[in-house]
Amino acid sequence: MTKMHNSGNKHPDLPTENQNESNNRRSFLKKAAAATFTIANTDIIALAVEDSIGQREPVAEMPWYRRVTRWGQTNITEKDPIQYDITWWRKHWKDTNVQGVIINAGGIVAYYPSKIPLHRQAQYLGGRDLFGDLCRTAHEDGITVFARMDSNRAHEEFYNVHPDWFAIDSEGKPYKAGELYITCVNSPYYNEHIPAILGEISRLYKPEGFTDNSWSGLGRDTICYCENCKKSFSQKTGKEIPRGRNWDDQAYREWIRWNYDRRLEIWDMNNSTTKAAGGPDCIWSGMNSGTISGQSRSFRDFKEICNRADIIMLDSQSRSDASGFQQNSDTGKLIHGLLGWDKLIHESMAMYQAGRPTFRLASKPVPEARMWMIEGIAGGIQPWWHYVGATHEDRRIYHTPGPIFSWHKTNEEFLINRSPVATVGVVWSQQNMDFYGREESELLVELPWRGITQALIRARIPYLPVNADHIDRDSGKFSLLILPNLGAISDNQITMIRRFVKNGGGLIATGESTLYTEWGDSRSDYALGDLFGAHTDKQQQTNPGKTLRRLASETYHTYLRLSPELRKNVDGPHAGKEPEISGKRHTVLKGFEETDILSFGGLLRPGITEPASEVLMTFIPPFPIYPPETAWMREPKTDIAGLIINTSSVESRIAFMPADIDRQFGRYNLPDHGNLLANLIRWAAKDNIPLIVECAGLVECNIYSQPGRLIFHIVNLTSAGTWRQPIDEYIPIGPVKVKIKLSKEVSGKGLQLLVSKSKLTTSVEKGWVIFTINSISDHEVAVIT
Ligand SMILES: [Zn+2]
Repeated sequence: MTKMHNSGNKHPDLPTENQNESNNRRSFLKKAAAATFTIANTDIIALAVEDSIGQREPVAEMPWYRRVTRWGQTNITEKDPIQYDITWWRKHWKDTNVQGVIINAGGIVAYYPSKIPLHRQAQYLGGRDLFGDLCRTAHEDGITVFARMDSNRAHEEFYNVHPDWFAIDSEGKPYKAGELYITCVNSPYYNEHIPAILGEISRLYKPEGFTDNSWSGLGRDTICYCENCKKSFSQKTGKEIPRGRNWDDQAYREWIRWNYDRRLEIWDMNNSTTKAAGGPDCIWSGMNSGTISGQSRSFRDFKEICNRADIIMLDSQSRSDASGFQQNSDTGKLIHGLLGWDKLIHESMAMYQAGRPTFRLASKPVPEARMWMIEGIAGGIQPWWHYVGATHEDRRIYHTPGPIFSWHKTNEEFLINRSPVATVGVVWSQQNMDFYGREESELLVELPWRGITQALIRARIPYLPVNADHIDRDSGKFSLLILPNLGAISDNQITMIRRFVKNGGGLIATGESTLYTEWGDSRSDYALGDLFGAHTDKQQQTNPGKTLRRLASETYHTYLRLSPELRKNVDGPHAGKEPEISGKRHTVLKGFEETDILSFGGLLRPGITEPASEVLMTFIPPFPIYPPETAWMREPKTDIAGLIINTSSVESRIAFMPADIDRQFGRYNLPDHGNLLANLIRWAAKDNIPLIVECAGLVECNIYSQPGRLIFHIVNLTSAGTWRQPIDEYIPIGPVKVKIKLSKEVSGKGLQLLVSKSKLTTSVEKGWVIFTINSISDHEVAVIT
């Protein structure tokens, strides 16, 4: 568990100058361990923190944004003011155990009688103070309120008064979304109008905090040429706003960075405004995307945002077929890596049919909604139900969140303030998404990431995303770092990876990893070529990166030859006699004894391999598929390396895989590719994996530690892994045999199952705890003490 404060810390709310009072308070807090309560209108919590010997001791009082863990949101439509039944919703808040609600307040339209000029009233508001009524009701019930804004757009009458506050194209035409006009982030709309609204709402209603559905303005695909933007860009960079997209142009790159910086300014400015109006805990926390590509397209620098955020609000409502439910767990772990595991991440989770297709007013199948919530919780995300509209004819929707919210409430102490346990780190950076991925980030960044992480999940190997700037900070816990086609990388990040390897850490790099600077300029060789034991061949290609970038989008009829071949001295595979087995294959190729080739699908260029390296796979160039008569290898053997093991170091195990097996696996899900990646990962990590799970089915496993106990969360993805969304029933799996490596302070004698509640016994062998779960429907959480 991440320690919030040492017990000796002075907290302003704890009267430490009066020891008696302090002791009494402590005794009371102890009884209320981990429970939320309210004293004299001041929302505080006693957070029970266990010390190193496992005694639970409250040591700090927490502001609301560190303790509210379940949220509800009825996204108010303009029709709702005449049909919003507050009594009914108040009961629904209670029934679903929410501690906080997100209520539409202002921005595009106001749900209260605003006096700010041009702050348009919602169409059916009719003088009603709906936001105010809801806010007061929530506060009466001890429920925290996030006032929801939307800064992104405004109506025509606003545009007509202040056309210079809106984003325009190079011809001077305003950008529109439907009937609404897009506001410019560099204009007084953001500097004056929005702060005025925030101030008004804060003074009138005292919500605990503010969020904003769409605060970051125009996305990356659109350039604003308004006078405000021209002036600001020229002041900051001395340059004119670029005429179009050109990632090789320094002005365009600076335009990208300038856009990121402006969003951070808005973040800070809005926080200053709300804190000045509502006190130091009245934070502003705009919505963020659950994917790095989404953050990049919206100029939201996730690392910098997390550096300044007290809480993260995610707009990531459902899965895609490509990435599955497991993406939500990945997202939670990635953001906690930036934010810290002691802060909270909340995610808007659609109870309606969100995704593909979207039906705002129809209930999503319960298993589909529930699995997304469960995978979020497994990755450290807190649940937040989301409906659009205050009345529903599909009343089934109201029954979806209750059971999981109730379970969350019962088991909350095991679901927050915990430290992840994993020995494999997968490295990422937003710079790589931007300046290497550019317009093809799905192909160049997301597919390789998905291939690696899916191979890890499939092999039941716990992993954590690691930001490339945090390698030094986080490396102590890892045996292995993986660079999944991490093309763009800075010199400082390279230095940190070298340090990790020098200290004995393993390294796997794939594709074009380290071949570009942080701006996406080609390097003459892999920056870690000496560690890879492999280099680019300058004779072959003046700019190998560019060519591969283009070629990566296609699939080719290519193969990889495993080395050495196991059948030797025979004329052919069916020569009528037992083949002479010569040579011994590397352990990385285990399981492929009955084949000398693997399907591939990508292309490879010749490179240079150092003599001390071992080439485990070589490239078989493309040959026809159709017609079948032509489907024979024109060039069965080359010396173009697909997988290289650097054997020169005794300390570290290093593998470089120019063959884009990770991207191929992310795209096509071929088991051979997943098995090969899993073999490689186990070898490079020197088998230092703290978990062994034996069962049929696709499961996602995470381990967390809290003082005195380990928490094992296993999610059954078998149904989802079988077919595309939505799922409408669970396929139970079991028996599931689990072996977890114990930490020093956990004996492994105690076991509690938080979902099935069945009683199991454990055995302990050589520092591992072993137990068998009979059946898992959707998920199970095991607490080991
Ligand atoms: Zn502008």
